Amino acid sequence: MKNPEGCMAAVQEAVDRGTIHHVGFSTHAPLEIILATIGLDIFASVNLHYYYFNQRNLAAIELAQQKDMGVFIISPSDKGGMLYQPPAKLVELCAPFTPIYLNDRFLLSDPRIHTLSLGAANPQEFLDHAPAWDNISPLDDAEKAALDRLDRQFLTLQPDRCSQCFQCLPCPETINIPEVLRLRNLAVGFDMVEFGKYRYRMFENAGHWFPGKKANKCTDCGDCLPRCPENLDIPKLLRDTHDRLYTQEGKRLWE
Ligand code: SF4
Ligand code: SF4
Repeated sequence: MKNPEGCMAAVQEAVDRGTIHHVGFSTHAPLEIILATIGLDIFASVNLHYYYFNQRNLAAIELAQQKDMGVFIISPSDKGGMLYQPPAKLVELCAPFTPIYLNDRFLLSDPRIHTLSLGAANPQEFLDHAPAWDNISPLDDAEKAALDRLDRQFLTLQPDRCSQCFQCLPCPETINIPEVLRLRNLAVGFDMVEFGKYRYRMFENAGHWFPGKKANKCTDCGDCLPRCPENLDIPKLLRDTHDRLYTQEGKRLWE
């Protein structure tokens, strides 16, 4: 690091003393900020959100690989879709594998990804990953077939499938349209309603950890409509998502 400032000056001191060997960063930030942070060329690894059911940060993984950085995945079971409590439909689509196993293999068979950071709440949630954690070989035919089944299930959402292109933003009401509609995709296509409720509750309730207002704040201004390549009726789908996923507010994440 050249002339580090603020907390990074202290980090550099620890590196110079040999207390720390490699400095990485962990992030919940938007993709643009992750890319810019990787581009600083001062970090050896990144810990970020990326799962079968949320591939928004793929470009960050590609850039990290170009920079020969370590890539850690944050909480693949919980943030990856509450996969430790999968709905029957998801279990059926993943069979003969568990949703946790299939997501782990999706990640660990990718040579750009090196470590899953598990947020296990009890020993079993840790052991659920054991069948996959030593296997970094390419996907076999049965694993590919199961993932293909999941891919095809997304297509059943047509004509209301949000393709997660993010072109509809910005919304003047700061609704995170792609994330709201991602939760709708998963709730409608995979019965992942409890996961959707858990994440939807966080809008307006978790600060910059999970930015954006709830879908019922849409004013029907229409700004987003011409930007959607899927020609989605975004306000209608936002209302539908709110009806499906709104529940009483819970505590903030850290309370
Ligand atoms: S129509 Fe609704 S979601 Fe779209 S930009 Fe306007 S307020 Fe935002
Ligand atoms: S522009 Fe349309 S398809 Fe793309 S993220 Fe927004 S709502 Fe989804």
